[in-house]
Amino acid sequence: MPRRKKIPKQPGWYESPLILQEYRLAHMGIDLSRMPFKQAAEAFGVPELCHAILMNTDVYTIIAASRTNKDTRKAAQKAFRTLLEATVKPFIFHDQFPGFLKTMKETGLGLMGSLLRMLLMSNSALQIDAARGGITRFIRPDDLNVVVPFGALSKTRDYFSKIGYTHFHSLVPWGTYKHAVTHVIGAFRPARLGERTCHVTITESVGNIMHVVLAGPMTCWMNVLTASKVYCAYPTLITNSTTLRTDIRTVDFPRRIGGCYNTKVDNSEWTGKCGRHCPAMPRNSIGDKALASFGWNAGLATPDSRFPGEDSVLSSSIIQWRLSEKCYNERCPNYVGRRPPL
Ligand SMILES: [Zn+2]
Repeated sequence: MPRRKKIPKQPGWYESPLILQEYRLAHMGIDLSRMPFKQAAEAFGVPELCHAILMNTDVYTIIAASRTNKDTRKAAQKAFRTLLEATVKPFIFHDQFPGFLKTMKETGLGLMGSLLRMLLMSNSALQIDAARGGITRFIRPDDLNVVVPFGALSKTRDYFSKIGYTHFHSLVPWGTYKHAVTHVIGAFRPARLGERTCHVTITESVGNIMHVVLAGPMTCWMNVLTASKVYCAYPTLITNSTTLRTDIRTVDFPRRIGGCYNTKVDNSEWTGKCGRHCPAMPRNSIGDKALASFGWNAGLATPDSRFPGEDSVLSSSIIQWRLSEKCYNERCPNYVGRRPPL
């Protein structure tokens, strides 16, 4: 009988999916290190076990597993959905989750910001180290950030009002978002017994939700999750402790970002060529193979568009963007030859 692992629960810990999963796997008596290779192959043939194992891997592994065969794809999608449900739980309760998915589908709502980043770094080495070290910023989201296409603001506001959010108020868009946004509104749900106060921010785009996502000044914010897919502009940087930010000097950052994120404009530490992820290279939402996407919802496909191989979220507007003006990676043809000032 494998030894069950005890994880101490420390005061102030957010009940993260990570901790719950570790308990679950230990209670199921699964110890992968003791499983002979032949039996391991059989384990992956059992959908429930495959799902349980994928729930304990990072999102890169879930996505990689989804590409192997039909059954594993189903298990991977289910594991991702479970992680999503657990991550949004402080803001959208378990019984509200199906309604939330329905609203996402009807309004074209996208989930973004710190909560999505947290979901995408589930079970990564960075998150596990942070959780064990008692650092809550990678396991406890500050607020729920959603973005909606132009015209969907009032319907989204009605939905959040229906599930208990009140005190709706206007916020001023800042920095690079000014030109991509029509309205930003905030609201909160007051704390009740056993729950904490939850804040939500609803951003309405000037057009497609991608206008807002790609206007982000930092790589870790350039991700969005819709009812059917998750999109990442810089997928390989999600689990880095440092975030690459724009070097455009006119962009102002709110003060509190300093506490939540480590940012820098210098990409000289990149270990290979930048390729299509070069921060100084202009990119386009259509035909951009560096923009990763994963269809996480088995029951819902994103409609195709008139551009071959592109779905409607990416191509309903043609959006050109670039993160920075300069590249500091020596291996890149766009290298500018010197490091930026600190
Ligand atoms: Zn480059």
